[in-house]
This record gives sequence, structure tokens and C-alpha cells, in this order.
Amino acid sequence: MQFLICERTDGIGCDYTIGCGMTFYFMDADSIEDAQEKVIWPDGHDEYYTLDGESARDSILIIPAEHVFTVDIIKLKLEFKKHKESLEQNKIESIERAELKRLQDKYESDDLGYTNKCKYCEREYSRSATIRIFGDFWWTSIYCSEQCFTKANDLKNFI
Ligand SMILES: [Zn+2]
Repeated sequence: MQFLICERTDGIGCDYTIGCGMTFYFMDADSIEDAQEKVIWPDGHDEYYTLDGESARDSILIIPAEHVFTVDIIKLKLEFKKHKESLEQNKIESIERAELKRLQDKYESDDLGYTNKCKYCEREYSRSATIRIFGDFWWTSIYCSEQCFTKANDLKNFI
């Protein structure tokens, strides 16, 4: 029979490595009792270092290894990598789509819901079209163009 042996030595071990002082290995033995005998007295009953001294064991587990399942970690890592890449791709795509929408709203949409009547020439005009042509000025909601804005102001100054 095969057994999985997990041994932990007394004390904390060094501060650096996780699992320091811990050992895991497989062992062939006839029974649990046989496995215990081999674990406690690997070098005969005259050697008792597993029970006393610096490397005395703090804890020992003997686990019958009847049903060992090997995790296909390489396959899982590959699948996870693909998953991660597709998440990254979705993230990039949503950022790009948001930017596209922002630019379309800024440059392509002719109607943001504003149809105004120019206070100078009294023509109906689209505010967003005016913004697109002349820039986002405060007067775009009052005048259809820079010319009308300028003329209206000249007239005001004249009067
Ligand atoms: Zn006008």
C-alpha cells in the first residue's frame, strides 16, 4: 500500500520559508502500523531523533493514498490565462467603446436635442453642428454661427 506521510518538526523553523519544517512524501508499507513503524523508527529503535531533540516531530499524518487525483495544473493554468486575456480584452473594448461613443457624440451627432433659433438671423439651427464647426462657446445656444455672434455684438456696441 502507498501512504502519504506529512511530518512537521517541533518549533517554528526558519522565518523565511512558508512550510519550513514540514515534509511530505509517499511511502510503501504493508499497513498503517507498518507505516508508523517506518516513520518513527526509520533507522531502527536506537535512533530516536523523530521523538527527541532538535528535529523531533511535532505532528505526523499518515494518509492512505488509495485515491490520488493529480490536478492537471498546466491545463488549468492555460485555461485561466485565456480567461484572464479575454477579461483584459473586454476591458479594453469597453474603454474603447466608451471613447468611441464620446467622440461620436462630440463629432457626429447632429442632434443633441437642441434645435435653436438664431437671435440674429432667426434661422433654425442645430447647436451641436455649430459646436462642431466653431467650437464649444457659450453663444452656440444663442447664435447659429460666429458671424451672427460677431454681428450681434457689433450691433450692440454700435447702439
Ligand atoms: Zn444666425
